[in-house]
Amino acid sequence: RRLVERLQVAGGASSIFRLDNRTLVWSTPLDLAELEPLLAGLRAVMRSPFEVAGRRLGVALTFGVAPADMNEAAANAVHAASMAKRSGKPWRLYSTEEGETAARQFSLLGELDDALRDGHITVVYQPKLNLATDRIDAVEALVRWNHPVRGMLPPDSFIPLIEEAGRIDDLTIAVLAQALEDMRIWCERGLVVGVAVNISAGLLASESFANRALALISRTGAPTHRLTFEVTESAQFEDTDTAVAMLERFRESGIRISMDDYGTGQSTLNYLKLLPVSELKIDRMFVQHAHIDHGDAMLVRSTVQLAHEMGLKVVAEGIEEAECLAFLRSIACDYAQGYFIGRPLDMQALADRVAEQSVLAA
Ligand code: C2E
Ligand code: MG
Ligand code: MG
Repeated sequence: RRLVERLQVAGGASSIFRLDNRTLVWSTPLDLAELEPLLAGLRAVMRSPFEVAGRRLGVALTFGVAPADMNEAAANAVHAASMAKRSGKPWRLYSTEEGETAARQFSLLGELDDALRDGHITVVYQPKLNLATDRIDAVEALVRWNHPVRGMLPPDSFIPLIEEAGRIDDLTIAVLAQALEDMRIWCERGLVVGVAVNISAGLLASESFANRALALISRTGAPTHRLTFEVTESAQFEDTDTAVAMLERFRESGIRISMDDYGTGQSTLNYLKLLPVSELKIDRMFVQHAHIDHGDAMLVRSTVQLAHEMGLKVVAEGIEEAECLAFLRSIACDYAQGYFIGRPLDMQALADRVAEQSVLAA
C-alpha cells in the first residue's frame, strides 16, 4: 500500500492493481516518449527506502510496457517486465514475437507436473575421465525432457523457465532421486561411480530444498562422498551468507561441491575465497582450444596450479579432440569431460561403458 501511494503521487496513476506479491499493473494515457522519463523518475523515487514497522525496506522496480489495446495487455506487460529484469534493464517494451515464444514456454510449464509423473523427465550421464588412473569413475547427471510432441528437449530450453517459475526445486529433487537410484543399481553391478548433479544457484537460498535433498539422500543411504553438487558461480548468489551456509551444510554431510563453468562468472576470486568448494570445473570456452591457443593454455594451466595450491581438484569440460586431452594430461589436470571422452549416455549404456573398462583392466 505504501508503494502504491508513492507510485500514485509520483506517477499520477489513478488505479493500481496488484497481480501478485511482486507485480503491480496500471494503465496510462501517456505515449512512449512521455513514458520513458516517467519510468526513470519512478525508479529514482524508490531510491529512498520505505519505513515499515520500524524497518527500512529497499524497493527496486522493473517495468514492462505493452499497448493497452491488445488482448492480454497486462500479461504482455508482465512478460516484458520479466524480460527486462532478466537482462538487467530498467524497462522493456513488449514484442509480439517474444510473446509467442513465451506462450509456448508457458504451456510447457503447465506440463511439468505431468512430465514428472509420467517419467518424461529423464537423466543421462556424461562420463568423466580420471586422468590419474585413466578410468571413468565419475559422471555428470544431465536432465532431459522427453516431450511426447516436441521430442527430446535440451535443458537450456526449459531450465531457465522452470527456475523463473520457482519450480526448479521439484525438478532438481526428481533428478537427484533418479541419480541416486541409478547409483544404487550400478553399485549392485559392482560399479563404483561418483555422480554430480547440477544445482541452480538460486536454490542455495532455499532451506526447504536443502531439507528435501538431505532427507532424500539419507533415506536412500547413498554414499555421500560419491555425490557432487555442481553450482555455477553467478550473480544469483544474491545473499552470499545464506549460500555459504547452505553449501557448508551440504559439505558437512559429505557432499562435494564443484564450481561449474568456472571462469565465466564475475567475482571469481571472491567466490573462491568465500565458498566451501572441493573442485573447479573449468568452462569449455577456455578448454576447447587450449591445445592450440596460447592464451587459453596459459589460463587453464595457471587455474590448475591455483586450484591445486588451494587443495582443489580440477575438471576440464568440453574436450572434443585428442590433442586437447593430451594437453590436459601434460598440465596434471585431474578430470576430463567432453564429447571426445564420451557423449551423455542413458544409465544402462553408461554402466556398460564403465564395466567394459573394468574388464579390460582385469
Ligand atoms: P553444464 O553443467 O555446464 O553441463 C555441460 C554441458 O555441456 C552439457 O550440455 C553437455 O552435454 C555439454 N557438453 C559436454 N561435453 C561437451 C563437448 O565436448 N562439447 C560441447 N559443445 N558440449 C559439451 P546439456 O546437457 O545441454 O546441459 C546444459 C546445461 O544445462 C548444463 O551445463 C547445466 O547448467 C544445465 N543442466 C543440465 N541438467 C541440469 C539439472 O538437472 N539441473 C539444473 N539446474 N541444470 C541442469
Ligand atoms: Mg554441470
Ligand atoms: Mg559447465
